[in-house]
Amino acid sequence: MNDILPPESARWEWLESIVRELMARYAFRNIRTPILEHTQLFVRGIGEVTDIVEKEMYSFEDRSDKHGQAEHLTMRPEGTAAVVRAVIENNLLYDGGKRLFYMGPMFRREKPQRGRYRQFHQVGVEALGFAGPETDAEVILLAASLWKAIGLTDVRLELNSLGQPAERAQHRAQLIAHFEKHADKLDEDGRRRLHSNPLRVLDTKNPAMLEVVESAPRLLDFLGAESLAHFDGLKAILDANGVAYSINPRLVRGLDYYNLTVFEFVTDRLGSQGTVCAGGRYDDLIVQIGGKPAPAVGWALGVERVLELLKEQGAEVPVPAPHAYAVVPDAAAMPLALRTLQQLRELGVRVQMHASGPDGLGSFKSQFKKADASGAAFALVFGADELARGEVGLKSLRDGKGEQIARPLAELAALASHLQSPAPKD
Ligand code: ATP
Ligand code: MG
Repeated sequence: MNDILPPESARWEWLESIVRELMARYAFRNIRTPILEHTQLFVRGIGEVTDIVEKEMYSFEDRSDKHGQAEHLTMRPEGTAAVVRAVIENNLLYDGGKRLFYMGPMFRREKPQRGRYRQFHQVGVEALGFAGPETDAEVILLAASLWKAIGLTDVRLELNSLGQPAERAQHRAQLIAHFEKHADKLDEDGRRRLHSNPLRVLDTKNPAMLEVVESAPRLLDFLGAESLAHFDGLKAILDANGVAYSINPRLVRGLDYYNLTVFEFVTDRLGSQGTVCAGGRYDDLIVQIGGKPAPAVGWALGVERVLELLKEQGAEVPVPAPHAYAVVPDAAAMPLALRTLQQLRELGVRVQMHASGPDGLGSFKSQFKKADASGAAFALVFGADELARGEVGLKSLRDGKGEQIARPLAELAALASHLQSPAPKD
């Protein structure tokens, strides 16, 4: 679990603000659910025979209440089950479908490594109450435009369809037969899941099992006309939008609740942590968690992996520097200086003030050093001479620096707009 510190945190804020803006353009609205949920929500929602529920959840028994009952609680390992719970509990679908998004920390007890942490962060979207392939397409298009907005180029889209439960049941019988025939090539997880959840075996990350998994019967070949029509509808919209994809018949996703469309945006640049964003349709989950039947589709992306990939690509992320740094050589000037800064900030200027450390304010020269280091475009100098004339000194800290000039304190609006434009490099 990591601390996210400045200046790195500025990259997070940058990404989050682009996400918010984009969600508004696609008319997805923000939902915030608690970190803790009843353990049973995830067991029912994600599925008992999954990596998450089998071994990754941070669960604990709460202290007993006054009736001696203790609740089993879990720190959310993902967002979808909790959103569905909230939608049911608050009857959000009473007047039609809802398009929701969330951002926040998730918790899984995994082996920490690059791109895989125990507290990590997801942005997720859930479109609930919509059955057609156009909504599958829309959430994928939303992700694609996010990549465009942040300058992420090294991801490709993989698609599959898991069909409907009846189609999976037919496939399942043949899949079990195939794996039984090659049981010697399965690892321990594979053998254990062979009968409880054979589809999950396809999701293995074990390279030694690649061959037996590649040669397995393909679920796509078991789909009926309706499922295929849904898949074709999605592909037609992606084609019309020039969104490239490939069909990956092994793509089954690590959670149990999916049907029809599943997809992942993957990269080759993050080693085995190559999935940046993943999702699909989950038409049966709402009923499974106790709500009235309603179709749904969504995805979640890993913020750490997206930022890591951007770094890997060498993409520049704007980090906002202050417009100005206030140099205050003499403490006597502080009241007037801070009043002026306050007014400039109200006019939209980003200003960092110079403040005294353990050894006081420091020399004029050392204050200018700090001004340079702050990344600000200008220094504002609150010297005694300037203030006596009703002025403040203004000096560029960029482009050969230039002379210090004086600006009247009576014309702060003009000063404020000068400080903000030309916009400092950000
Ligand atoms: P993986 O196969 O990499 O374990 P997953 O299938 O368990 O991923 P999901 O549950 O689909 O992942 O979560 C969606 C996204 O969240 C992933 O594609 C990934 O980008 C991110 N993610 C999942 N687990 C972690 C983690 N432990 N640390 C960082 N990011 C993660
Ligand atoms: Mg995982």
